[in-house]
Amino acid sequence: MVRDNKLVSLANPAAGRSFALTGGTVIHDDGSQSVSDIIVGADGRIVVVEPFLDTGSCGACVDIKGMLVSPGFLDAHQHLDKTGVLRFTPNPSGTLQGAREAFAKYARTAGPDDIHKRATRTVERCLSRGTTAIRSHINVDKDAGFHGIETLAAIRNAEKDRITLQLVAFMTPHPGQDFDWLDKNIDGAVALADAVGGTPAVSEDPPRYLDILFSAAVKAGKPVDLHLDEHLKADVHLLDAALDRVERFGMQGRTVFSHVSVLSALPRKDFQRIADRLLALDVGVVTLPAANLYLQGRDAEMLPPRGLTRVAELYRAGVTIATASDNIQDPFVPTGSGDMLEIARWTLLAGHLRGDELAAAHRMITTAPARLMGLGKEHGLKAGARADFIVTDCIDTDTLVAGGPDRAFVFSKGRLVSHSATETIRMLEDA
Ligand SMILES: [Zn+2]
Repeated sequence: MVRDNKLVSLANPAAGRSFALTGGTVIHDDGSQSVSDIIVGADGRIVVVEPFLDTGSCGACVDIKGMLVSPGFLDAHQHLDKTGVLRFTPNPSGTLQGAREAFAKYARTAGPDDIHKRATRTVERCLSRGTTAIRSHINVDKDAGFHGIETLAAIRNAEKDRITLQLVAFMTPHPGQDFDWLDKNIDGAVALADAVGGTPAVSEDPPRYLDILFSAAVKAGKPVDLHLDEHLKADVHLLDAALDRVERFGMQGRTVFSHVSVLSALPRKDFQRIADRLLALDVGVVTLPAANLYLQGRDAEMLPPRGLTRVAELYRAGVTIATASDNIQDPFVPTGSGDMLEIARWTLLAGHLRGDELAAAHRMITTAPARLMGLGKEHGLKAGARADFIVTDCIDTDTLVAGGPDRAFVFSKGRLVSHSATETIRMLEDA
């Protein structure tokens, strides 16, 4: 077998010059796909995506006929301050509370250098697997202080041409939470962040806590992204309390609920009422299958629940739902490779999507998170967007999600940042 030249030359468009990729199959924002040419400008933005373009004025032109181009994958929910601490933070119970306690203890000693090293390692890993934007929640509390948010803000600014990072000031409550400390520090944390976050279910006074978070968001003009009801206790959910505040604070279209595992524990008619409110208030959902599968249902004597929210039903109801990694190799989730296709597969399997909904899982790592992260115009294969995309040897979206590529070329802001290949020895011998 002779190695196709186009695959080799894909690695060569010189940085800082315009280039064209011709004849590839392009996945559009609406999920359709068509054979189109893509011209990328010297500024790292897409100039145009259309069939049969005149590419004469481009600095380089690469024929990618037969290859599939996907927009960059987006990871709408991670914890880059926690990533990679697994071996320092034993969590023998395997529960969410056990993980919280293990990390809180570690956070008291985690300095900026330690956080920087672990976070950049995971960011690079994600980028190499096609993730071109990450929204990360960063603990800000009396244990972690500002080390995490300050360190990640520096990484976000330094790496902005390679990867888009959004930070959520995760104002973590603990038993005995000091509301005075929260009041005093939330504005400073939010100033360094791109969104306001927290975990109301853990707070001793959830209504007061929610009011503080929403007030800070309105004051700073930034969106809200909550860890909401990451549990399966139907009688204590805070969905209505949070939705009431979306309405009262005018945060429609600017609020994301992550987890909402409890929706799976509610009777269907109660779920339907909440789904209608989510739609009416334009609140998006992020499901986190790895954390939910690992942490939830540990007390079940038999038939442990999956722990995820009602993924398929939310998707079919028209609620904007994304899927994301959550934690990568820490006491909350001991595994994780930063591969969003892996997360998409888990979402399809554990979230009870069907075999004819593979493209829905792709949407949950591309267009849905783009909307929830406010990246609509910046993301996607269209004129004006950042040239963040993955060129693969898959034939369509379904095969990309189902099995993944054997060859992948990741471009961020128009520059090749990674290329990888799975090859048999026989292919190498014949090349
Ligand atoms: Zn999380």
